[in-house]
Amino acid sequence: MSFKASYIKLLESGELVKRVEEAKRHINNCKLCPHKCGVNWEEEFGVCQTGDKATVSSYTPHLGEEKVLVGDRGSGTIFFGYCNMSCVYCQNYDISFYVRGTIVSNGRLAEIMLSLQNDYHCHNINLVTPTHYIGNILEGIYLAAKGGLETPIVYNTGGYESLETLKILDGVIDIYMPDFKYKSEELSRRLDLVEYREAYRYGEELKLRLD
Ligand code: SF4
Repeated sequence: MSFKASYIKLLESGELVKRVEEAKRHINNCKLCPHKCGVNWEEEFGVCQTGDKATVSSYTPHLGEEKVLVGDRGSGTIFFGYCNMSCVYCQNYDISFYVRGTIVSNGRLAEIMLSLQNDYHCHNINLVTPTHYIGNILEGIYLAAKGGLETPIVYNTGGYESLETLKILDGVIDIYMPDFKYKSEELSRRLDLVEYREAYRYGEELKLRLD
């Protein structure tokens, strides 16, 4: 492979393991996304209802993603359960609302990434709805990279991350694929079931990141 995934450089410099630690700090006081729940995941749930281990709904070479990601061997998608948004039109509602999936360790997450690379020869590892699992995912990437992962990472998100989270991810992710859901604040409050959260402000948060 001629393309070198960007996290390899961070692994070699020792920076990747620091990013894992930074992300995992949120387990005790989660502010991974602008909801800023501040919860300890071992004791209570935030808006995303997530625990301290990742739930994987499925993983597979996906031929239905954007053409540039699919090539001839597919994009190696990992669909995660739960979500930090609750859009009324969610196309993956059975995964994000009803959570069909398996709770996995971060080591198992690394094995899944390596399988998508080594067994299925996917062109990329495509993390679908990853925001609330950044700590688990980064440790998975770290372990997998030590085990030979070198495939680029796609970050396929609803676009509601905190700025701190985006800084933690900087240099780890090769391709960002955020859904730009709402420009209008009014629309985001009407179509997202988390609108009751006082702090919820999708449009304003997104503008901050684009500025
Ligand atoms: S990821 Fe967002 S919604 Fe989930 S607990 Fe953390 S701050 Fe709350």
